[in-house]
Amino acid sequence: MLAVGRMEDEEGPEYGKPDFVLLDQLTMEDFMKNLELRFEKGRIYTYIGEVLVSVNPYQELPLYGPEAIAKYQGRELYERPPHLYAVANAAYKAMKRRSRDTCIVISGESGAGKTEASKHIMQYIAAVTNPSQRAEVERVKNVLLKSTCVLEAFGNARTNRNHNSSRFGKYMDINFDFKGDPVGGHIHSYLLEKSRVLKQHVGERNFHAFYQLLRGSEDQELQGLHLERNPAVYNFTRQGAGLNMGVHNALDSDEKSHQGVMEAMRIIGFSPDEVESIHRILAAILHLGNIEFVETEENGPQKGGLEVADEALVGYVAKLTATPRDLVLRTLLARTVASGGREVIEKSHTVAEASYARDACAKAMYQRLFEWVVNKINGIMEPRNRDPRCDGKDTVIGVLDIYGFEVFPVNSFEQFCINYCNEKLQQLFIQLILKQEQEEYEREGIAWQTIEYFNNATIVELVEQPRRGILAVLDEACSTAGPITDRIFLQTLDTHHRHHPHYSSRQLCPTDKTMEFGRDFQIKHYAGDVTYSVEGFIDKNRDSLFQDFKRLLYNSVDPTLRAMWPDGQQDITEVTKRPLTAGTLFKNSMVALVENLASKEPFYVRCIKPNEDKVAGRLDEAHCRHQVEYLGLLENVRVRRAGFASRQPYPRFLLRYKMTCEYTWPNHLLGSDRDAVSALLEQHGLQGDVAFGHSKLFIRSPRTLVTLEQSRARL
Ligand code: ATP
Ligand code: MG
Repeated sequence: MLAVGRMEDEEGPEYGKPDFVLLDQLTMEDFMKNLELRFEKGRIYTYIGEVLVSVNPYQELPLYGPEAIAKYQGRELYERPPHLYAVANAAYKAMKRRSRDTCIVISGESGAGKTEASKHIMQYIAAVTNPSQRAEVERVKNVLLKSTCVLEAFGNARTNRNHNSSRFGKYMDINFDFKGDPVGGHIHSYLLEKSRVLKQHVGERNFHAFYQLLRGSEDQELQGLHLERNPAVYNFTRQGAGLNMGVHNALDSDEKSHQGVMEAMRIIGFSPDEVESIHRILAAILHLGNIEFVETEENGPQKGGLEVADEALVGYVAKLTATPRDLVLRTLLARTVASGGREVIEKSHTVAEASYARDACAKAMYQRLFEWVVNKINGIMEPRNRDPRCDGKDTVIGVLDIYGFEVFPVNSFEQFCINYCNEKLQQLFIQLILKQEQEEYEREGIAWQTIEYFNNATIVELVEQPRRGILAVLDEACSTAGPITDRIFLQTLDTHHRHHPHYSSRQLCPTDKTMEFGRDFQIKHYAGDVTYSVEGFIDKNRDSLFQDFKRLLYNSVDPTLRAMWPDGQQDITEVTKRPLTAGTLFKNSMVALVENLASKEPFYVRCIKPNEDKVAGRLDEAHCRHQVEYLGLLENVRVRRAGFASRQPYPRFLLRYKMTCEYTWPNHLLGSDRDAVSALLEQHGLQGDVAFGHSKLFIRSPRTLVTLEQSRARL
């Protein structure tokens, strides 16, 4: 069991090394031993230089709250035991003192604790800002804090890996004025896993919002939405097991969450009308999911031989979307196509086409709803009344909480995008860490030596390269007129990448029985090999929805719903330009994200999931070792140690070690802090292992730090 003690200001040797850079020897065994030792003692945070490694404790630890925040406020990174608050504080200080835009990048696999970490960071920032309690700043802080709850309702779901799994990527900018107080913010969301609206794996659920609506609404409201309380009534909410579970556990019920979300929406500034519209849209999606199509007799009443099994549902959808019933029915059963010039003909669906179109519409309605919610929050958080003293420019802290590397028994387009995103971020991580080191050496006037590091650029290129990259080949396949199959797409990939060291398929490697012939391809990601099933790639990339649905919803009398469908304005004869594919849109958003992050001073939080069973206080060695490997943590320590293992501003160094030297204890009388540090090191015989920068001491080997730590511990 985890020893849950009071948070101490100081850490003794019994807690292991607070920084992996301090390890005597850098092997995987040593790394893991230190991680385990610290975890057992309730020390879930450890540094690698300025990178914070965090292990999910799966239990409440007394590490957070106002008392803990006060301990970190205004301190230096190493003054207190490693903590998220220290990283938040470092990012905040860099932003405030040096007017630098900073960002905190949180990574790790599903359930590793990214979202919880981002909430602690936000809470820290909210707690240390606005001492003068300015009303506008308080408003912004409230919206920032409450937005998480709303976004989680619409973007999170129970999965087998995490009961509150974020099914979208989130990057949030917080804008600060010249006083260092938050005056606004902006959220970018990435690739919502909208296929979940239709289908969930066994044990999983749809997005929380559906269950919260069903379980948390008053009877009367449900009646108005024509809904029954039981989620098992609806195709879209009944597939996974575990329907009765709330966000975290049975106690944290959907009813309670519903109240919380309603309250949060009210505080943020959603109008009652808007909240009602949101509920109507959710209800309409649930009804859509229950609509079935049947073929009619040749000479039946419906042209084209197709009808809806339960027409009452069409009526509900029409009412809830504030659209004409006849039009809803027509849109479900047929589509209009331009037949040259301005002529338009109506073409009936087959059962399969109608079902496909219904699903596409349900997914799109949910995605647009999610995006609308994000935009609504953004509108409310937009910085107002910018202070002229900052030339209209605020300083920004960005917090990135984005899905980690994913490998499932069957991996599809979504995992492909998510893993590509992780490749991009890993590349940035390596580059920034090296770049940062280099810049620091230059700034401090210290000679720089090049360090070898693994570069995953070739994998990124395999995916995003123009013309030949996997995304380009996929787009090409999607734009081909006539029937194109997933198999042809796979064959084209094989032709282009048969010699690529990170690509293979069964056709290229017939002995590999892990892949199915003509169905799978495999990428050797930096984090491990992943086999992708090409089934559905083309469809998901095209991501098309018949214009009829868009036009139907654009013509809704409900202003909130209508605002979600501006592209429904176009007539079918005007829709000539092929919209960008889902893959290309995602790639563009990743390129923009990485550019944005690269322009900021980065801080990293690397989250580790201790076990697959969500059990408190248990660390499975093999499971964690794999994460340590693919997160490149050992490499990170190596890079940090290859140049200089540690660097510390002279005053901070003295604060920690001045008691180990007669010339510096209790206070030195030497000319400068730098001279005092020099005298201290000479007394220990360590002067050969350091370099003196303008403001900082650079220590080459961790041994030196170990020696200093030991003499400190002996006192
Ligand atoms: P996903 O990628 O699926 O969104 P995630 O990395 O965001 O996963 P979280 O939702 O942050 O994971 O964490 C999963 C669960 O682990 C939380 O619901 C909470 O129960 C527990 N947890 C995470 N961090 C902490 C912490 N610092 N203290 C206590 N419990 C935690
Ligand atoms: Mg999350």
